[in-house]
Amino acid sequence: MASIEEFKQEVRSWVDENLPAELRVGNRRDLPGEPLGRWIQALASRGWITPQWPTEYGGGGLDRKHAAALMAELRAVRAPIIGSFGTSMLGPTLLEFGTEEQKQEFLPPISRHEIKWCQGYSEPGAGSDLASLQTRAALEGDEYVITGQKIWTTGADKADWIFCLVRTDPDASKHDGISFILFPMHQPGVEVSPLRLIDGSADFSQVFFDGARAKAKHVVGPVNGGWTVAKRLLQHERSTDGGSEGGITGAMKETLVDVVKREVGLEAGALADPAIRQRLAAQEMEARALSLTMRRAGEEARAGQTTRDIGSLGKYRWANMVKNEQDIAMTALGSQGLGWEGPGFEDGQLERTRAWLSTRADSIWGGTNEVQLNVIAKRVLLIPE
Ligand SMILES: Cc1cc2nc3c(=O)[nH]c(=O)nc-3n(C[C@H](O)[C@H](O)[C@H](O)COP(=O)(O)OP(=O)(O)OC[C@H]3O[C@@H](n4cnc5c(N)ncnc54)[C@H](O)[C@@H]3O)c2cc1C
Repeated sequence: MASIEEFKQEVRSWVDENLPAELRVGNRRDLPGEPLGRWIQALASRGWITPQWPTEYGGGGLDRKHAAALMAELRAVRAPIIGSFGTSMLGPTLLEFGTEEQKQEFLPPISRHEIKWCQGYSEPGAGSDLASLQTRAALEGDEYVITGQKIWTTGADKADWIFCLVRTDPDASKHDGISFILFPMHQPGVEVSPLRLIDGSADFSQVFFDGARAKAKHVVGPVNGGWTVAKRLLQHERSTDGGSEGGITGAMKETLVDVVKREVGLEAGALADPAIRQRLAAQEMEARALSLTMRRAGEEARAGQTTRDIGSLGKYRWANMVKNEQDIAMTALGSQGLGWEGPGFEDGQLERTRAWLSTRADSIWGGTNEVQLNVIAKRVLLIPE
């Protein structure tokens, strides 16, 4: 493998050839479709959407240091980072628990960003207490027939497939009768009903199953042993978003510093409002400290020196940090932060208001802040119950 310096050079010249200027704006929602499609294909052709996966499953076959160098180079030019539930949660779980046949079937399309997945965990009566889930899967021949309801399923209206927790043994104790199963969303017996979020978007849905079918060979891990698989996937979910790869992704049109500078103004080269100046400095320090802490924690977890549940610490601090970022922006905006739409407000102001509303959810999804604190207490600090 090339030295890190040589590899960085290679990435830089490859990026120059493949990344048009119009995409060098970070992970914005309004990226132009056609160039974005070409960028995704270019990344996939190198295996760089999933740089550390083995090449036989469509990955880049890179070790951790080269993968980190790749991500650093991409972030440095504000390239869109392509990720999904498939790449960050299901794929790593399949690499560990999937059969060879499941890996061959599902990993290559995930690594090419071709299949959209959604996560069927939560139910109306099972959120924090996830093991209370009631969606049933009954075996009929070589298929399971699925009946029940999921809720808060992000991206369900656009998903091709779902990874889903179902009860395969209703008589077993709560954690023991659960299986982790994959099945297509586009089939009779699956109904999706979008829910609107406080920021105006409708990214998640209720999903109803009434006789939906899943192949028995698509159970991941042992039948009735899905709880272990489910927990591992949650560890991946929490560590991905918890900042092990660096917290806020730069999805906004303007950085927080730019917003605050514009709204508050400068006096003698410093922000005019000393209270906001202090909060901004503390926020920047928190972001950097969290990024470094989670990088260290990630290395320790990989070396077996700490538990993978350390990701809960990252998720908890990250959720607070992104909420605080938007709180600072709102303080700086003052009454200009009260707009929903209309001519009295600039695009950047409206974007921040909606982001403030949207980040209220960050301390809920993937396990609420209280649940993360419970995990940290029990499994990281090993405090007795
Ligand atoms: C934007 C968003 C996207 C989501 N996407 C998905 C998805 O794609 N797939 C999916 O399956 N789910 C998804 N969820 C659901 C999410 O996982 C649940 O909302 C979350 O786990 C909390 O469950 P609940 O809503 O049922 O709240 P509850 O579990 O009813 O919790 C209510 C309150 O009680 C507190 N609480 C509960 N138990 C304890 C405890 N033991 N100790 C201390 N406090 C406790 C909670 O912290 C919370 O404040 C999403 C949620 C949001 C907001």
